[in-house]
Amino acid sequence: MAVKQKTILAVEDEPKILEVITSFLESGGYAVFGAETGAQALAIFERENISLVLLDLMLPDMPGEAVCQRLRQSSRVPILMLTAKVEEESLLNGLGMGADDYITKPFSLKALGARIEAALRRANEDVRPLLAKHAFGDGDLIVDFEKNTVKKRGEEVLLTPSEMNLLAALVKYPGKVFTRAELIEIALGSAFDGYDRAVDTHIKNLRQKIESDSKKPDYIVTVHGLGYKFGG
Ligand code: CA
Repeated sequence: MAVKQKTILAVEDEPKILEVITSFLESGGYAVFGAETGAQALAIFERENISLVLLDLMLPDMPGEAVCQRLRQSSRVPILMLTAKVEEESLLNGLGMGADDYITKPFSLKALGARIEAALRRANEDVRPLLAKHAFGDGDLIVDFEKNTVKKRGEEVLLTPSEMNLLAALVKYPGKVFTRAELIEIALGSAFDGYDRAVDTHIKNLRQKIESDSKKPDYIVTVHGLGYKFGG
């Protein structure tokens, strides 16, 4: 059975440890992004669909707790703290900041693997969607349902509630063709006859906000004779 590959963000400023963790996880079938600073970690998290974060507590630019807190503002991604024994007090703070679990250095790779699997399993059992944030086109477009924000090339774009509803429906069902009637119901919350053009207007405005070229849209694609679908 093909299992969708999970992506792990490993945040650790000790290059040797990062390297060992990365090759271990990659050999276990995970995709891994490594970050050596908190700022790098936050930038990668913003750009990629991360399934789990391994977070060292002592980073050169900001404490791991601060990274954790920032991640928790927008995501329920499982966060596993890496900590040394002397940092136990900080660790408790870290858990208060929303980390899911911790592992004390030095740890065995086997133990790390088991903790990661357990955290991913718990996240899977969570009925809430793990990915509240969707990134497309290498981070060109980021739709964050938890913060209710949309970013185009890193800049926040302001959508009207109708535009946000339309985009949300399209993003949540990529590839599904929505008829104009379905979209007008989604955008306005009720079905109206004869308001098809209103959908076209919303779509046109949305394209101007999120497409690089609204004449050649990548995200909101017209399906001739049927309606629209999400192509990101
Ligand atoms: Ca460190």
